[in-house]
Amino acid sequence: MDSLLEEVVSCPYCGESIKVLIDQQEAGHQYIEDCQVCCRPIMFCIRVDAMGYVSVAVYDENETV
Ligand SMILES: [Zn+2]
Repeated sequence: MDSLLEEVVSCPYCGESIKVLIDQQEAGHQYIEDCQVCCRPIMFCIRVDAMGYVSVAVYDENETV
């Protein structure tokens, strides 16, 4: 079943708002995608809380999580 969520995050480098689609099946995973504005690699971490609510956090590539 497709369960895509749309979220808006801010690029950790340039601060630009970026719309991302999150697949709830990907909860607990992380991936890197280049910012569409500044082209730097953003790390996306998909998290799910105890209520089952999925959210995404962004980090710069060099930040230790
Ligand atoms: Zn950027």
